[in-house]
Amino acid sequence: MKILVTGAAGFIGSNLVEHLLEKGNFVYGVDNFITGSRKNIKRLSKNQNFEFFENDISNLDDQKSELLHDQKFDQIYHLACPTGVPNLVTLAEEMLSTCSIGTKNILEIAKESNSMLLFTSSSEVYGDPKEFPQNESYGGNVDQVGVRSPYEEGKRFSESLITMYVRKYGIDAKIVRVFNTYGQNMSKSDMRVIPRFIHQLEQDKPLTVHGDGLQKRTFCHVDDLINGIFLVMDKGGKGEVYNIGSNKEITIKDLAYFIIKISESNIKVKHIERPKHDHQARLPYLSKIFQLGWSPKINLGEGLSKIIDYELPVKV
Ligand code: UDP
Repeated sequence: MKILVTGAAGFIGSNLVEHLLEKGNFVYGVDNFITGSRKNIKRLSKNQNFEFFENDISNLDDQKSELLHDQKFDQIYHLACPTGVPNLVTLAEEMLSTCSIGTKNILEIAKESNSMLLFTSSSEVYGDPKEFPQNESYGGNVDQVGVRSPYEEGKRFSESLITMYVRKYGIDAKIVRVFNTYGQNMSKSDMRVIPRFIHQLEQDKPLTVHGDGLQKRTFCHVDDLINGIFLVMDKGGKGEVYNIGSNKEITIKDLAYFIIKISESNIKVKHIERPKHDHQARLPYLSKIFQLGWSPKINLGEGLSKIIDYELPVKV
């Protein structure tokens, strides 16, 4: 199949491209490296079935746009969007334009070539949820002018736009709401909690827990997420939304001590100021994706052990 992946240089995008190439597909990747990594593209470019376009999907020039329109993709995985809590202010404009103009540009390509489309939305559409677990029908608790709004409202707008294209133009699109995910190919500069803790561990620095660390998250391994994404693309209903994530909650403080334990390190934990907009907890309701036959296979201990490259201090 001929497949387009937007956000191909990102953490999830690069893992997804790798899996698609392994299945024998021809993959076109697009990324503007705003938060993606050139290292990921360099690795993928060794495969002759991968072609890369450095481009901002919210600002496709006529030539590039024509080139993408001409390709007639069988499937489009639309992942592109700047990420990262520390980028919420600095890249706010880029988040909003990618999720609005960028998504519209990609939808036009899907409409013209009659491609199936899968959009990776986010658990951030639920904001700081008041309902647990978060069912796909839950409307969320989002502050539309809050610091997190460029990402939260951006993803919500993309979802609305995609649903409109399904209803009005009949395109075959699905939406996946991705909960916290971790795994190989996260960049060392990624400020999400797991890569941050691992980077701190590798540098023999204390793990920085925000506040009391009692806020909770669930963490899904990227390989499990990608299996879920493939299932939704193949078997998901047109216009349907699916949560994908782990349903095993852990506090951030326990996560820090767990990483210290499995790496057999004696690094300390340091409590630092917690951002005011930090969410207290998030927990996906997974019935819909379970019904498609998905279940996560990699537990947190196993997944973390695969990516922690920590050399134990020499014991004398
Ligand atoms: N966090 C932390 N220390 C860090 C980075 C993050 O305690 O160095 C916390 C953060 O406050 C949040 C959780 O870890 O409660 C997950 O943060 P992340 O940025 O990975 O993703 P989020 O779920 O907030 O989008």
